[in-house]
Amino acid sequence: MIANYGYKDGSGDFFIALDTDKCDGCGICVLPCPSNVLAVVDEDPNDPMREEPVAIVGDEQRQKLKYACAQCKPAGVDNPKLPCVEACPQGAIAHSW
Ligand code: SF4
Ligand code: SF4
Repeated sequence: MIANYGYKDGSGDFFIALDTDKCDGCGICVLPCPSNVLAVVDEDPNDPMREEPVAIVGDEQRQKLKYACAQCKPAGVDNPKLPCVEACPQGAIAHSW
């Protein structure tokens, strides 16, 4: 399942997509994130039947992703290497913008 966390407004779509089929909850992505956007939880809010831990974007971060991720994704820079994406050994993380 692709879990999309974020928002859309007049300036664009700002979502982090986490592929929960690939994510094994290892937590490696949490460490390099400078804005504490990512967290690993024992219960998947999108899939109550899942028994393994999974990465999510916390509630307080979802409405400000554009700003929280700005230091990794500065405006005008195309395809920067994102610490979270680079760190994930499963290739489970994508960003919409
Ligand atoms: S782009 Fe940067 S701030 Fe945003 S989730 Fe990834 S590592 Fe964290
Ligand atoms: S590094 Fe990848 S596999 Fe590990 S918790 Fe983060 S998203 Fe999931």
